Amino acid sequence: MKTELQNKLFDKYPKIFVQKDLEIDTGDGWYNILDTLCGQIQNLNLLERFNVEATQVKEKFGGLRFYYNGGDEFIEGLTSMAEAISNRTCEECGSPGTQNNAGWVRTRCPSYWSAVALQNQAHQDSLKVKNKK
Ligand SMILES: [Zn+2]
Repeated sequence: MKTELQNKLFDKYPKIFVQKDLEIDTGDGWYNILDTLCGQIQNLNLLERFNVEATQVKEKFGGLRFYYNGGDEFIEGLTSMAEAISNRTCEECGSPGTQNNAGWVRTRCPSYWSAVALQNQAHQDSLKVKNKK
C-alpha cells in the first residue's frame, strides 16, 4: 500500500497500529476494507473492551490477512468478514473483483483482467511474428 494511505490508517488508528515497524503489505484497493475494519475495532478498543494490536497485514492467496494480538470471537468475526470481502474486491483499485484460478492467485476487477488478456494476446502475436521470420 502506498505510504500516504498507510500513514492515514496509522494516524486514524493509533491504538491498533502500535508496532512502529509494521508495513501494510497489500495494494491500495483494500484501503476501505481496512479503514472499516479498523474503525470497528478501534471503537471497541476505546470502550476498553479490548486491546487489539495489529501484528501483520498482508495479501495471501489473493485475500487480505489481518493478524493481531488480543481481541475475542467478535473481533475474529469482524476480521473474517473483512478478509472475505477482500476476496471479491480488486486489490489495485477497490472495484468489485474476481480471483484467477491459475498460478499466483490475485483478486482483480474485470478491466484489470481484460488488460492482462490483451497483453497476453500481444505477447502471443509477437511470438507468431518472430516464428515466421
Ligand atoms: Zn481494479
